[in-house]
Amino acid sequence: MTPSGPKNIFDVIIIGGGVVGCGIMRKLTLQGYKALLLERGGDILSGASKANSAILHTGFDAPEASLEHACMQDGYKEFISIREKLGLPLIKTAAHVVAWTREELDKLPGIVAKAHKNKVLDVKQISREELLLHEPNLSDKALGAVHVPGEFVIDPWSSPLAYLSQAVAHGAEYRFHSQVTGGFFSNGLWTLQTPSGIYKAKLVINSAGLYGDIVERICAKPPFTIHPRKGQFVVLDKKANQLVNSIILPVPSSITKGVLVCRTIFGNLIVGPTAEEQDDRDRAMVDNEVLNDLLAKGKKLVPALDRYEITATYAGLRTATEHKGYQIFPTPGKNWIGVNGIRSTGLTSSLGIANYVHTLIEDHFKTNLFAHVTPVAKEDIIWPVMPNLYEDAPRDYQQPGSGEIFCHCEMVTKREVEAVFSSLVVPQDIGGIRRRTRAMMGRCNGFNCMQRMQQITKGRIANGFHNDKEKE
Ligand SMILES: Cc1cc2nc3c(=O)[nH]c(=O)nc-3n(C[C@H](O)[C@H](O)[C@H](O)COP(=O)(O)OP(=O)(O)OC[C@H]3O[C@@H](n4cnc5c(N)ncnc54)[C@H](O)[C@@H]3O)c2cc1C
Repeated sequence: MTPSGPKNIFDVIIIGGGVVGCGIMRKLTLQGYKALLLERGGDILSGASKANSAILHTGFDAPEASLEHACMQDGYKEFISIREKLGLPLIKTAAHVVAWTREELDKLPGIVAKAHKNKVLDVKQISREELLLHEPNLSDKALGAVHVPGEFVIDPWSSPLAYLSQAVAHGAEYRFHSQVTGGFFSNGLWTLQTPSGIYKAKLVINSAGLYGDIVERICAKPPFTIHPRKGQFVVLDKKANQLVNSIILPVPSSITKGVLVCRTIFGNLIVGPTAEEQDDRDRAMVDNEVLNDLLAKGKKLVPALDRYEITATYAGLRTATEHKGYQIFPTPGKNWIGVNGIRSTGLTSSLGIANYVHTLIEDHFKTNLFAHVTPVAKEDIIWPVMPNLYEDAPRDYQQPGSGEIFCHCEMVTKREVEAVFSSLVVPQDIGGIRRRTRAMMGRCNGFNCMQRMQQITKGRIANGFHNDKEKE
């Protein structure tokens, strides 16, 4: 498995299989680069990317003329253009930025003006009456809103999986349980050390997310430090899903976009996230007091939430830094590109970031290092179709011959789990199986199906079952 001879020297090694690393893998492989992904977890999405709000943002409120804004809009466009070929779902929800006070109402024209400057021209202010027509379950204390037709909800897990799967279909490689612990640059080649072996490449891309600054030190002292910013969520019962049609956003502050209420691809309704600084880069614990507060805020916006039960809770960590903007830059003398600080918009911008990274390679490294590289011809591109996790599209249990349903909360079949083991990117921990099938993610949190899951996956998952579940 471990590359040793020159034929095992990769053009590019990408450190970190979050949504950003997966997006870059896809882009570079389709451009003809021989690429390897090194991921410290037992699956992709072992960091920030495993828990977010799953909104495909238009960039209407992004910092004007920023790299983040450019990558979001490019990523949005590319996602829309490829998603059907990869079987990636999208709910055309739209969003409403709702004003609840006079001060917030006064800010709405500024939000519209900024959206137009950001080239999101269909954004407009609407009256309280129009808002309540769109959202009859919203509290009648709403004073008005900004309507953003292009904000959508997507699948946060299948999308990055599709990007890496497409790369693998074209010959890219990945190694899990391969935390990069050190490395050196010599004679134009990087040598990276991991527990699974030594890997060599002409160029390294650091997209290690919450560990981005630590990994960056392998190349040079980074001009940023990662400060994890936690976001907690409550997930409401599937019956609550129909309470809102669009994504209900607050008027944002300078620190956070604020607490939103929106539907998920998986058929639930979420309220969150919070924005809490913490030092721990790994664990995102939920806190009862905070969750109660979140729920109370949600009920103020949508009073009928009171009638529905909480199904689950979760928290994610944003890869924030002391800077507002993305930290993406090359170190040409050392054949390294850092792609860091992708704080709260990476699911949307990942494909745009991948295009930007490709441009950096063309500008700084192509002539000297990659003159031989030619893109895959358009007609030869393979489009692996992702298994469906979208509640409103036909699920496996509804198909002929689906056989045993072992997770009854989320209606997951044994056949779906079996399919994971013959897919292009096979996870090596239980978190990966859960993210590919929704098993153990429902009301009982795996209480009823965990044992059966253990039987089905026995001997096929490298890491301890319970430990991986705890980490989620
Ligand atoms: C609460 C919350 C809500 C959000 N909502 C949205 C949203 O609605 N829409 C949107 O577009 N974005 C959203 N985001 C942002 C988005 O989730 C992030 O921008 C994105 O996940 C960052 O991805 P990444 O690949 O940079 O980092 P990560 O996902 O952290 O990926 C880095 C990977 O590198 C691995 N790694 C770390 N160190 C090493 C090492 N030494 N060697 C090998 N591998 C290593 C990690 O295990 C990890 O898998 C949200 C984020 C949060 C937390």
